[in-house]
Amino acid sequence: QDTFGWNLEQSYVRSLPERFYTVTDPQPVKDPHLLLLNDELAKELGLNPDAVTDEVVGVLSGNAFPKGALPFSQSYAGHQFGQFTMLGDGRAIMIGEQITPEGKRLDLQLKGSGRTDYSRGGDGRAALGPMLREYLISEALYAMKIPANRALSITLTGEPVFRQTVQPGAILTRVADSHLRVGTFQFAAQFGDDGDVKKLADYAILRHDPDLEEQPEKYHHFFQRVMDRQAKLMADWLHVGFIHGVMNTDNMSISGESIDFGPCAFLDDYDPATVFSSIDREGRYAYGNQPYIASWNLARLAETLISLIHDDQDEAVKLLQKDLEQFATLYQNYWLEGMRRKLGLKEAKDNDRSLFNDLLQWMEEHHADFTNTFRSLSNGKEPEGTDTALREWIAHWHQRLADEGASVDNAHAQMKQVNPVVIPRNHLVEEALQKAETDSDMTFFRDLLQAVRQPYDENELTKRFTTPPPPDFTDGYQTF
Ligand code: AMP
Ligand code: MG
Ligand code: MG
Repeated sequence: QDTFGWNLEQSYVRSLPERFYTVTDPQPVKDPHLLLLNDELAKELGLNPDAVTDEVVGVLSGNAFPKGALPFSQSYAGHQFGQFTMLGDGRAIMIGEQITPEGKRLDLQLKGSGRTDYSRGGDGRAALGPMLREYLISEALYAMKIPANRALSITLTGEPVFRQTVQPGAILTRVADSHLRVGTFQFAAQFGDDGDVKKLADYAILRHDPDLEEQPEKYHHFFQRVMDRQAKLMADWLHVGFIHGVMNTDNMSISGESIDFGPCAFLDDYDPATVFSSIDREGRYAYGNQPYIASWNLARLAETLISLIHDDQDEAVKLLQKDLEQFATLYQNYWLEGMRRKLGLKEAKDNDRSLFNDLLQWMEEHHADFTNTFRSLSNGKEPEGTDTALREWIAHWHQRLADEGASVDNAHAQMKQVNPVVIPRNHLVEEALQKAETDSDMTFFRDLLQAVRQPYDENELTKRFTTPPPPDFTDGYQTF
């Protein structure tokens, strides 16, 4: 009897032609141990965190299967730093879609579960550090109400993983609305039969936009939905200083969730050119460039949909181009909305953009800490480094509040709901991973995890994690 609560279905495999996946068993691991289980998420999934048996740990490490599981890896292609290639899940295996008590359908995927047909030269495994990073960051994004795949568990495999150094091997179980990517569409268009893109689009609509199913021009509306979700996501990221790190088309989801944010990082000092990934030499995926890249990636998606949009190809291209031209406006509107919330403003006014940009420019010139500056303003305190210029800006802002009849106190109360006290700062994440990896000490990691789960509360725990990095840390810091 399954007391844990698995309730798996396989709509991906049942709906799509075989070339979209390869049935692959995970490679068993030597000595599986459960390191972390996300109790809250487990409950949302209808799983019982108090019924974790050896059998369940076996499933979460790829050694066993529950009823209804069908392990497979997904096919996809993608533009990596602008270069198109065939990819696929090289170290991930889907075990199925969990149907939650509320009737949601969520992908369950093991990451680091061994080689697949798509592994190329890779070992199919994952090291503990990067899996802990993904777990922590996904919980932080979730707590800040930013769509992201989530982590259900981390198991230790009892086997070493060989990177620059020898590290403990781990498997992350991740949960997502789906793992359909821009790169899945590129795969279908490039390597599929006629009709495969349509099958994929129908499936994506079923998963993410079922209200479009019966509509005329549903594929066109579907594209607009994906655009809208990405425009909102980019604004969400920029509002908290998030840098995804590798916005390749295979790492951009159709559902509008943040996925594959392995080398991601949060800004400390505000600087739109910030990049933390050593492989991103030209700053393609820099903080401030992310909305442009999103629109570039969406153009790649649009190219795959042409034949579904209109019988006349030129007409289809025209329609899609017109949509893509709207992306900048869509994004700007989400960005402005979010900035208003960050500053306690409710009404839209003509000069908002320049008000916001003046603050950001001051922050950039003074190397001000992005998170702490907004939080200080929310607390009615002068941010670190305040000078005459910032005092003048604050006076403008207060005037702007007065113009819409808002009190400064009310604005502060609103701002404290959206400007985080604590984010997973890079130097803290590194410290947490280091202690977990080298000393097997999870205390710091658990404290930081608990803190990022309550990002807007100012308390003893969260206040421990608000100090910006020492200057020698940031110079040359790389996540990958
Ligand atoms: P990512 O940078 O995570 O988006 O991964 C890019 C591609 O490399 C995907 O096809 C991954 O599945 C694959 N990949 C990454 N790491 C490994 C690994 N250790 N073994 C096999 N494939 C990998
Ligand atoms: Mg990827
Ligand atoms: Mg990946």
